[in-house]
Amino acid sequence: MIRHLKRPLAEASNFHDEAVTTTVQNLIAEVETGGNEAVRQMAIRFDGLDRADYRLTKAEIDACVNGITKQEREDIEFAQDQVRNFAQAQLDTMSELEVETIPGVVLGHKHVPVDSVGCYVPGGKYPLLASAHMTVLTAKVAGCDRVITCAPPFKGAPAPLIVAAQHLAGADEIYALGGVQAIAAMAVGTETIKPVSVLAGPGNAYVAEAKRLLFGRVGIDLFAGPTEVLIVADETVDGELVATDLLGQAEHGANSPAVLITNSEKLANDTLEQIDRLLRILPTAAIAGEAWRNHGEIIICDTREEMLSEADRVASEHVQIMTRDDQWFLDNLKNYGALFLGARTTVAYGDKVIGTNHTLPTMRAARYTGGLWVGKFLKTCTYQKILTDQASALVGEYTSRLCMMEGFAGHAEQANVRVRRYGHRNVDY
Ligand code: NAD
Repeated sequence: MIRHLKRPLAEASNFHDEAVTTTVQNLIAEVETGGNEAVRQMAIRFDGLDRADYRLTKAEIDACVNGITKQEREDIEFAQDQVRNFAQAQLDTMSELEVETIPGVVLGHKHVPVDSVGCYVPGGKYPLLASAHMTVLTAKVAGCDRVITCAPPFKGAPAPLIVAAQHLAGADEIYALGGVQAIAAMAVGTETIKPVSVLAGPGNAYVAEAKRLLFGRVGIDLFAGPTEVLIVADETVDGELVATDLLGQAEHGANSPAVLITNSEKLANDTLEQIDRLLRILPTAAIAGEAWRNHGEIIICDTREEMLSEADRVASEHVQIMTRDDQWFLDNLKNYGALFLGARTTVAYGDKVIGTNHTLPTMRAARYTGGLWVGKFLKTCTYQKILTDQASALVGEYTSRLCMMEGFAGHAEQANVRVRRYGHRNVDY
């Protein structure tokens, strides 16, 4: 039987929030009509930054890169090596295809990198430099020619660590711009920014909604809004580990859901105690505590099958499995952005350094997509060719009859002319 030890007090805010949608629609329209000046006014209004030219100069970028410590640079480079290595290994699995499906009929596909990508690196509450590795670097591994990137100012100025990470990841253009103004400027273009074909990267509810509203005019990677964590655990782990991992993600923002699914009442109660303890000492307790009070949830199940179906229902961005049956969950779970298996690993490893991408689906988008990966920057485009007269006439006969079933006489004639020319006969209806 499935029951709650703690229920969320409120629904997580999301793209169904009409107020967010209206705000974002108006801001996108402002950028479309007002260009650079509208973007500048929005940057002043939301981020307190007044720059006539929001593109960072080479001197500014160099100052950021040279201003970070040797250890910071080594750490960023280590993380970027891991992300690059895994993205390259994924790319290596994406073979091209050419196959003869009927004698003389050759079909194939190629993976073509999109020409230009706009990568958003969030930076409102924390300077989330890891997003630069996940977006810019991955697009570069895919082979995209022009990769541009925006991040909001942090405490009033471009964050040196973000700029360094954007530059070391290989960004072609770096802009000090955040929120809707950044997303809209990259998508529709301004006097300064040439528009891109695809937007990528995570962000808050405004950023995620801007990407959603602009989808169609540009491609987007996925719906990657406020972070979520779901832990599936049994009595093989203790409350301290579970509480630490729940609050570690809840600190992202007051609207971040953190859920525990367990078959152990003891673990559930220990976790609640440990959360109370940690919220007295965690430096980010104000945000994490609000997230936990409003969106924290503890679900108790009797069986591993119940835990599995509840986890699939929640379809969380991050799913951490700490049970005696980790492999069974890997084999059977269907809805998750990224999976973290066993107590030795944790979401923070994946967020920051291990090499898998941290740009992941939220708000149950894990039902229909995985996270950002090198393949999202590639278009799988098909082609066909016919090598023999006989094959052209054969396919032509079927084509002609099928076109006429739909009433497409012009389409049918495209086939008929080939059946006559290459097959030396008329189509037999
Ligand atoms: P952010 O960069 O996403 O947003 C900051 C911008 O929001 C500001 O520049 C401002 O322009 C805009 N903004 C703020 N208040 C606004 C308002 N009232 N109206 C219009 N615009 C407004 O930074 P953040 O706020 O710290 O959020 C980062 C988010 O990214 C968090 O929610 C985090 O959970 C999420 N995240 C998600 C993933 C994922 O893969 N899903 C990964 C990492 C981070």
